Amino acid sequence: MTLSPEERAVVETARDFVDREVRPVVRELEHADTYPAGLIAQMARLGIFGLRVPVPYGDAPVSMPCYALVTAELARGWMSLAGAMGGHTVVCDLLARFGSDEQKQRFLPRLATGELRATMALTEPGGGSDLQAMTTRAVRDGDGYVVTGTKTWITNSRRSGLIALLGKTDPAADPAYRGMSILLVEPGPGLTVSRDLPKLGYKGVESCELSFDGYRAPLEAVLGGEEGRGFGQMMKGLETGRIQVAARALGVAQAAFDDSLRYAQERESFGVPIWRHQSIGNYLADMATKVTAARQLILYAAERAESGQRCDLEAGMAKLFASETAMQVALDAVRIHGGYGYSTEYDVERYFRDAPLMIVGEGTNEIQRNVIAAQLVARGGLGFDPS
Ligand SMILES: Cc1cc2nc3c(=O)[nH]c(=O)nc-3n(C[C@H](O)[C@H](O)[C@H](O)COP(=O)(O)OP(=O)(O)OC[C@H]3O[C@@H](n4cnc5c(N)ncnc54)[C@H](O)[C@@H]3O)c2cc1C
Repeated sequence: MTLSPEERAVVETARDFVDREVRPVVRELEHADTYPAGLIAQMARLGIFGLRVPVPYGDAPVSMPCYALVTAELARGWMSLAGAMGGHTVVCDLLARFGSDEQKQRFLPRLATGELRATMALTEPGGGSDLQAMTTRAVRDGDGYVVTGTKTWITNSRRSGLIALLGKTDPAADPAYRGMSILLVEPGPGLTVSRDLPKLGYKGVESCELSFDGYRAPLEAVLGGEEGRGFGQMMKGLETGRIQVAARALGVAQAAFDDSLRYAQERESFGVPIWRHQSIGNYLADMATKVTAARQLILYAAERAESGQRCDLEAGMAKLFASETAMQVALDAVRIHGGYGYSTEYDVERYFRDAPLMIVGEGTNEIQRNVIAAQLVARGGLGFDPS
C-alpha cells in the first residue's frame, strides 16, 4: 500500500511530534496520571482531530490507511494520545456518513479543529457486548426526548462537548436493534459525569460513568433525523473504531519491539550482547514478524474501508490480531529487559499495562471472533480474488 507523498508527510509529521514532544515527557505524565492538555493542543494544531472530517467541513481529511498510520504513531509515543482522538474521529465519521446537513454544519467544522471534542457512549454498567440489551431510553415528550440511563467507561467524557449516545427510542421494538437510535447529546441539565473510573493503564485520559436523569434532547438530536437506525449506524462506525484500536495496538507493539531491539544490542551477558543468545534473538524475530503481520492486516482492512466496501470481517481480524500481538510483544519486551522491564523508570511496563485495553475495547476479542465467524459463513469464506 502506498500513501501519496502528502499523506506520507502527514505520518512523518506525527512521527516527529511523537519523538520530539511526546516520548521525552510521557513517563512523567503517565505516572502522575496528568491530562496532557499541552500535547492535545499541539495535536489540534497539527490537524489530528480533523483527519476524518471531509471537505468542506474540514480542510485536510486523509484516507483510512493514513489515519491508521497516524494513530499508530501516536500510540507508539503514548497510547492515551491515540485514545484521545479515537472516539472523536469515529463520531466525525458517523456525522459525515449519516448526519443531516444541519448536523454536519453545526458540528463538523468545530470537530475538525479540535475546538469541539466528541466521544461515543455505548457501554452500560450491565454490559457492553450485548448492546441490544441496553436500558438507556430516550422517550418522546413534546418537542423532544427525555433521556434516562447510565453509561460507563466513556472515554474523554469530561472534555467532550458532543456525545454520540446509543439508546432506545423504542424500547418495545422486536428485534431490539430496530428501536435503537444515536442521539447527538451536548452537556446540559440532567447529564452528570458521575465518576472517573480507576484504570490499570490508559492514564491521563478520563474514562467515566455518565448518568442521564431527565436529560432533554431536541428531536433534531437523532443522527440523520430518523429513529431506529442507530444500531446499524454504530456498527458501521465501529468498523472505523476497530481499525483505530488495531492501530493503537500496533503502535504499542512497535514501541515495545523498538525498545527491545535497542536494549538487546546494548545489554551484555556472558560477554556478548544478549541478542546473540538464541532465545532472545528468537523473541526479537517473532516480535518483528507479528508486528509486521499486524501492520499488513490493518492496512488491508483500512484499504477496504477506504474503497467503501463492508469491512467488519477485515477490521475484526485486524483488531483481534493486532491487540493479541501487542499483548504478546509487550510481555516479551518485559522478558528481554529483565528486571528493568518491571521498573516504572522504563517504558516497557507501560506497554504491558496499556496492551490489554485493545483486547477488551471496541468490542472484546471474543466478540470479534463472533463477527469474523458470522461473516465467513455469510460470505462463503474469505472471498479473496485469486488474481
Ligand atoms: C479504558 C476503557 C475505555 C473504554 N471506553 C469506552 C467508550 O469510550 N465508550 C464506550 O461505549 N465503551 C467504552 N469502553 C467499554 C468497552 O467497550 C467494554 O468494556 C467492552 O465492550 C466489553 O463490555 P463489558 O466490559 O461490559 O464486558 P461484557 O460484555 O460483560 O463481557 C464480559 C466477558 O464475556 C465475554 N462475552 C460476552 N458476550 C459474549 C459472546 N456473545 N460471545 C463470547 N464472549 C462473550 C466478553 O468477551 C468478555 O470476555 C471502554 C472500556 C475501557 C476498559
